[in-house]
Amino acid sequence: MTKKTRAFRSLITNHVEGEANGFPRTETCSSCGGSGAEAGTHPETCSKCGGSGQIRVQTRTMLGMMQTTRACDVCGGSGKIIKSPCKTCRGTGTERKSKKFDATIPAGIGEGERILLRGQGHAGHRGGEPGDLIVEINIRPHPVFVRDGYDVFCEVPISFAEAALGGEITIPTLEGKETYKIPEGTQTGTQFTLRGRGIQQVRSSRRGNLYFTVVLEVPKNLSSKQKELLRRFEESCNTTNMDRKKSFSEKLKNLFK
Ligand SMILES: [Zn+2]
Ligand SMILES: [Zn+2]
Repeated sequence: MTKKTRAFRSLITNHVEGEANGFPRTETCSSCGGSGAEAGTHPETCSKCGGSGQIRVQTRTMLGMMQTTRACDVCGGSGKIIKSPCKTCRGTGTERKSKKFDATIPAGIGEGERILLRGQGHAGHRGGEPGDLIVEINIRPHPVFVRDGYDVFCEVPISFAEAALGGEITIPTLEGKETYKIPEGTQTGTQFTLRGRGIQQVRSSRRGNLYFTVVLEVPKNLSSKQKELLRRFEESCNTTNMDRKKSFSEKLKNLFK
């Protein structure tokens, strides 16, 4: 993972989260190595099926004698008989263990996508090939950012003075806090774009965009002095200060003549 995308890691779960103690899986028994037989003993070849695990059965049908095969009832199809079963696994050859995994997650992975940890699943029967562990990615909601594909969106509250005067405001990016210069007279709801500052695309060096929308916060709990200052400011305003308000009142005038 490159330095640029490191911050994105906070948008995803870095670790596979099974239960608190790990992901429960069946592992090959550490005492008997999967054979199911007590240490020092070996499973014996089943005498009924001769080790094949299958027995032939003759059945009389309307069409004559039919020969079928089925699993040996003495050894259960394994072809082996365990006279003294392993005490750890009681002859099953496997044991349940909780295991924690570290998984490398590619930058840009999406909700519900899966990664495969080959050979990390349940142990195979009697020391056979293990299965795979499939990890489904659930992305935790981020306190600031909302993701849409490779683009990232956020809202930044600004004060009335910041909106009217313009200047540097602090904005969040995937790399950390930054200052951004907004112009004088910025309206609430204005969206600004930081190209190539979104999420890295999977198997590509390209990144989506970061969009932030400024939202004007109207001041509350004003002191009487602040109210007085605002009233004086309001009295000083003229029609050139608020062109939308001016054109709206003209529309109303025409509408309700
Ligand atoms: Zn065992
Ligand atoms: Zn058998």
